Amino acid sequence: MPLDVTPAGCIWNVCHNGKRIQGPFGSKSSAQQALDAIENNPSCKLRACMTCQTEFLSEGPHNRMCNRCRKDARAEYTTDVTV
Ligand SMILES: [Zn+2]
Repeated sequence: MPLDVTPAGCIWNVCHNGKRIQGPFGSKSSAQQALDAIENNPSCKLRACMTCQTEFLSEGPHNRMCNRCRKDARAEYTTDVTV
């Protein structure tokens, strides 16, 4: 799987073909841990989000929305937005 841990300033991302699928992480080792967890989980795979069509890392067939859209859905009634 073309997964990679890539630095971005002082944080680290887990990327697939150069596209961030998880992160940011505060250290390389935690990003590497996340990458290992993905590679060791056969039900984890990239899917297109049902809302915005962005590719994201799905935890399984039940998981069809990217993190951002899930966060948006949850944040509907709050103003707490994490950038
Ligand atoms: Zn989405």
